[in-house]
Amino acid sequence: MNPVKHTFPEVLNKKGVINLPDKNKTALLVIDMLRDFVEKGAPLEVPKARGIVANIRREINKARRNNIPIIYSCDSHLKDDREFAIWPPHAVKGTLGAEVIDELKPREGDIVIRTGTYSGFFRTSLDKTLKELGVRRLILTGVVTNICILYTAVDAYMRGYEVSVPEDCVTALRAADHRFAMRQISETLKTFRSS
Ligand code: ZN
Repeated sequence: MNPVKHTFPEVLNKKGVINLPDKNKTALLVIDMLRDFVEKGAPLEVPKARGIVANIRREINKARRNNIPIIYSCDSHLKDDREFAIWPPHAVKGTLGAEVIDELKPREGDIVIRTGTYSGFFRTSLDKTLKELGVRRLILTGVVTNICILYTAVDAYMRGYEVSVPEDCVTALRAADHRFAMRQISETLKTFRSS
């Protein structure tokens, strides 16, 4: 007679207690809150970005209290990046403008991922990092709603993650673009409520 095999993905910890994988394990992403996007007169200034800093701060504090990993996804370009055919040069590697604004600076233990284009997943270690952390759900914050937030959310969905985009933690250059992207996210991706 064949013994009954366990097929559940359960793991015994050192005390012999079963740990089931946590389907709700969440990470907070802070996207492109860099000086070149946020500061007054910056090359790719998103004026409304200064109005969401306190709200992102709130999410960061909440994540720290709940041991939720905080991942900074930061635009980082070479001097002659092809993106500069579309946008003025910004977030050039090694410059001050490519740094996270002082109010939201990463702390020790936070993860910083450098991106080269609109999606935080494209040619970066983000997916691998999230898998290592066991994360299944992402809270996306930062700029801009219809570009890096939207494309990162789409890529997250394609890879099987659920996303939450707190509306007061993202913004865009134009209100109509912000509304379009928020609608796309809520109607076409797998979302969850994070607050
Ligand atoms: Zn860029």
